[in-house]
Amino acid sequence: MDEKKHHRKHFHERHHEKSIGENSGYSKNEEELVCNFEICVFCGICGEICKKEAIAVDQINRIWNFNRNLCVKCGHCIRHCKVGALKFES
Ligand code: SF4
Ligand code: SF4
Repeated sequence: MDEKKHHRKHFHERHHEKSIGENSGYSKNEEELVCNFEICVFCGICGEICKKEAIAVDQINRIWNFNRNLCVKCGHCIRHCKVGALKFES
């Protein structure tokens, strides 16, 4: 399994774990936050600055988890990522 697929797998597993949050900024088929695992260094900054706790980074195992149901699309994580790995994408 290549590195990218490995992280994608975890992304989806986590995504389905949680129930839908009432204050989510998302609706169906809308753009959502994505991480480019080719350039992410798993520093954890995005997870630390997200006030909604929508991102959790496992630095040791190099896994980036995102829960779109908690995200309010404030964009703080995108602005704080030093390598530009995050963006909104539909
Ligand atoms: S801040 Fe950027 S490099 Fe650091 S874990 Fe988040 S997405 Fe990856
Ligand atoms: S856009 Fe805002 S709420 Fe969504 S993951 Fe980033 S920091 Fe958290």
